[in-house]
Amino acid sequence: MPVDYRAMIPSLSFRNQAFINGKYVSAASGRTFDCISPIDGRVLTQVAECDAEDVNRAVTAARAVFEKGSWSACHPGKRKKVMLKFAELMAKHKDELALLETLDMGKPISTSAGGDIPGSIQAIQWYAEAADKVYDEIAPYRPDSVSLITREPIGVVAAVVPWNYPLMMASWKLGPALATGNSIILKPAEQSPLTAIRIAELAAEAGIPDGVLQVLPGFGETAGQWLGRHMDVDMVAFTGSTEVGKYFLRYAGESNMKHVSLETGGKSPNIVFADAGNLDHIAKTSADGVFYNSGQSCNAPTRILVEDRIKDEFVALLTKHAKPWTPADPLDPNTSMGAIVDTGQMNRVLGYIEAGRTEGATVALGGAQARKDTGGAYIEPTVFTDVRNEMKIAQEEIFGPVAVAIAFKDEDEAVGIANESIYGLQANLWTRDVSRAHRLSRRLKAGTVVVNNVWGSDITNPFGGYKQSGIGRDKSLHAMDKYCQVKNTYIQL
Ligand code: NDP
Repeated sequence: MPVDYRAMIPSLSFRNQAFINGKYVSAASGRTFDCISPIDGRVLTQVAECDAEDVNRAVTAARAVFEKGSWSACHPGKRKKVMLKFAELMAKHKDELALLETLDMGKPISTSAGGDIPGSIQAIQWYAEAADKVYDEIAPYRPDSVSLITREPIGVVAAVVPWNYPLMMASWKLGPALATGNSIILKPAEQSPLTAIRIAELAAEAGIPDGVLQVLPGFGETAGQWLGRHMDVDMVAFTGSTEVGKYFLRYAGESNMKHVSLETGGKSPNIVFADAGNLDHIAKTSADGVFYNSGQSCNAPTRILVEDRIKDEFVALLTKHAKPWTPADPLDPNTSMGAIVDTGQMNRVLGYIEAGRTEGATVALGGAQARKDTGGAYIEPTVFTDVRNEMKIAQEEIFGPVAVAIAFKDEDEAVGIANESIYGLQANLWTRDVSRAHRLSRRLKAGTVVVNNVWGSDITNPFGGYKQSGIGRDKSLHAMDKYCQVKNTYIQL
């Protein structure tokens, strides 16, 4: 039976406090902020606004339990068992979590229920299962000695996450950080704190010890900055804008040189060659990639490079396949595109659309706010053509439902345009020429290259960027390394 999400709303109780040392508590200052739904502008609840004092308390609890060793030094098989229970409890509450995610940040309920929440559960499960399957090493060394290379948990980890995939971005960090034995303090984005707060008690119910997983809602400039500057935080794992990613590098440099891992977005090229085959299929897949999650995806293939002899045909097809992404009520199970996360972000995206017009690009579709009467934040699917790569709309991360089409003449020009960006998260490439596919995959400066598709993501595969798209990788076994110190021990026999 399909879940009636609307009917669930009246009985929802919004957890809205910080979760410190195993308990929900108000912020030390007593301050709260409004948690607003972008679906209709309604205030859902008032959330604790954590600040320096709350950060200090959480770090003290995280350090104490880390030193005690009840999680950091227990058998990894125990961590596996507890984390599997945690994933099981998330699964038990999956409908509630999906509804919270949709109300909080405006993505369609089909996306929350079919993508974000199952993906988050899978991340916790996958790292739980890995916890007791990753071995350390013995190095080749002198015959009269043994050289051990072991991984140890890094200590107190702060995870500062964004609003576009709130629980999933958190889970990509919680999974490997918990599996390797760290204490983790999660700061959700101010726009989307509800699922992070809710899962804290599920983690406790599963048996994760007090202080090992704590949640501090609040603002970036205060709670986020204090975590970044705290002398007893050993690592920050961040996803968000490049601008704030750089702040964390600065905070680390000005405090204790904590480890910093960054996933800071992109402006992914999607290169379509004339030999690529079925253009209708490519245009549809490209539109799906751009407009999924209202374009609020760091790897969205929004910079569409098209060989000039098929450009007009391709833009017409892209526009045709963009139209069905017209925004609608996120709570309707048939909706494919919902809201923008808040009115601030909506105005930011509309500002980019205006800049595109001013710089001389042509709007082939959309370009305006939608569903104004709802009180929410919505934008039409928008396609720009006649775009040059130096334009602002081709260089900056718009993070909204906006595609830009740029023409190219040949392979060299395509690679040149694709790589002419401060970002290098993902690049997509459509061709039936297998040599060209290999040749270009090597030349494209991106952490992920997808050939003949735009979708190429799984928890089993590493994700992260070249250049200003970040430092380090989320997902896969590679992510576990960054939450560990590597220790070398020599034993003389
Ligand atoms: P931010 O980078 O500002 O926010 C990401 C996280 O960092 C949030 O938890 C935020 O907290 C926190 N933060 C913000 N400022 C600071 C600070 N000074 N010190 C410490 N932590 C901080 O993203 P925005 O929400 O402002 O979005 C702006 C743009 O960033 C988007 O348009 C998009 O281009 C890009 N972005 C990229 C994402 C990605 O997946 N790579 C995800 C989200 C945004 P708080 O929310 O409380 O401010």
